[in-house]
Amino acid sequence: MDLVVRIFLLVPVLIESRLASAEDFGYDGSIGPTYWGDRYQECRGKHQSPININVLRVKQVALPDISFVGFDDPIDNVHVTNNGHTVLIEVENEPHPRVSGGPLEGNYVFSQMHFHWGDNDTLGSEDKINHRSFPMELHMVFYKEEYKTVKNAVTHADGLTVLAFFYELDRHQHPAYDDITSALGNVTDPHSSVVMKKPFSFLNILPYDLRRYFTYRGSLTTPPCSEVVIWLDFEQPVRLTHDQIEVFRELRSASGKIRHNFRPIQPIGDRTVFYNIDSNYYTYNEIDDPDREPEWPQKRKGRNSASVTSSCITLIIIIEVLIAYVDKIHY
Ligand SMILES: [Zn+2]
Repeated sequence: MDLVVRIFLLVPVLIESRLASAEDFGYDGSIGPTYWGDRYQECRGKHQSPININVLRVKQVALPDISFVGFDDPIDNVHVTNNGHTVLIEVENEPHPRVSGGPLEGNYVFSQMHFHWGDNDTLGSEDKINHRSFPMELHMVFYKEEYKTVKNAVTHADGLTVLAFFYELDRHQHPAYDDITSALGNVTDPHSSVVMKKPFSFLNILPYDLRRYFTYRGSLTTPPCSEVVIWLDFEQPVRLTHDQIEVFRELRSASGKIRHNFRPIQPIGDRTVFYNIDSNYYTYNEIDDPDREPEWPQKRKGRNSASVTSSCITLIIIIEVLIAYVDKIHY
């Protein structure tokens, strides 16, 4: 074939592939997190995620218990998909698992879960705690039920909640992750998908303690970086072996292995991170600083001042009755 003809045939192909990659985002080079804001304005916002959580600066609160609905049901037809950025786990059958309570107003319906990881075990999580990174992080994404769809939910400030779980290393394998890691072997190529062989239960892959968590307002950690997420970062990590995490690093994007897919931390700005302690141990609001009411969240589980006042009045009446009774005996 004539060289000129070859070049003419090649040019449209090159332009097309360049446009395709320009529409995408990545974690390195000219499509890396530093440049996301060029194309997606909101990635330069003031309330972005992830953040570093400084535990000395969190505000302790005792929020109502979180209700996890459908988390211990075995779910069939669970799809595992490599979307070129991460691995997505999605459910088909209705009703989807849901969460409510904690800092949330209303019900949130499960949309998908996915993972973020790093090149090696010293990094990979998105949020950090006291500047500590974890080798991997799970995001369970839920949309507010009243907004009907994820697409509509991301147009509202309280549209999404993400339950985030950290991983740390253990010498022993976590058996509940075997089904996920064996599915990963079949989706190493980008835009490939499989259905999990066995029923899948959310609760099996989570840590034991679901009461202690950090919560703050932030954003999606991938473009378009919409600031619509109520984050709940659970304190107790899930424990996996190095080999179980290594399987994630074998997944491929169009440009090779996905060795890392975490966004660097963003400024916390004027935001407060709340830390929910186990409300079974604290029934009063004594853990709160009485001089400074938090701006969000508003809900508390502890007794309010009106009920404390009425308890005091009851106690005074009882004491007065007792005094009168003692006086009567005395005379
Ligand atoms: Zn994520």
